[in-house]
Amino acid sequence: MFNTGKKLTILAIGAHGDDIELACGGTLAKAVKNRHEVIMVLVTGHASNDHNNIKIRAQGAAQQEAKAAAKILGVSKLHILGYQDTFVPYSAELVSKLDDIIADCKPDIIFTHFVFDTHQDHIRTAHSTISAARRQNTILLYEPMNPSGQGYVPFRPQIYTDISQTIDTKINSLKAHKSQYKKYTDTWIEAVVARAKFRGFEMGVDYAECFEVVRAELNL
Ligand SMILES: [Zn+2]
Repeated sequence: MFNTGKKLTILAIGAHGDDIELACGGTLAKAVKNRHEVIMVLVTGHASNDHNNIKIRAQGAAQQEAKAAAKILGVSKLHILGYQDTFVPYSAELVSKLDDIIADCKPDIIFTHFVFDTHQDHIRTAHSTISAARRQNTILLYEPMNPSGQGYVPFRPQIYTDISQTIDTKINSLKAHKSQYKKYTDTWIEAVVARAKFRGFEMGVDYAECFEVVRAELNL
């Protein structure tokens, strides 16, 4: 659908370190492998605590892990906006920051969160991205992952990517988020692989990721 032979610029925007890798790490790694440019935006990158106020990761660790994961995927540039976890706004300020990034890199495809996710940071990141991408032709929403994907509107898988050749890179990028890997253990990794297997089964390949469309340009 998008393979026009030209080099594409792909912009992936996520609220927290690991969101993008979980949802579209295989797709991004595949894009890099096929010589497209991938740029990532981490809206937070701040220290984070869980709901019991127990520290999950310090600010330095959050940013280091994000950089390590982006490097594994082959991302050419990682923007870290530094908003505090759980307090990402849907605001003129955030939209303006994303406006600047979009104006600078002129992406052909933008990936962001599913708008009916249950995490407030994910929802506001998605809304801010859609506002900032008002003049962009292709915006795709990546599949939410539990525990934040338990919304009241189901995700509709509409576009699939075969990630059979890059599932290992995706998993390595997830493991680079050491604090999350420690928190969720191997069960987390197994669930991610199982979901990719399930999505792959739906399209007749080994592993896949899927997306819902906000808007898509059909290149003929
Ligand atoms: Zn998240």
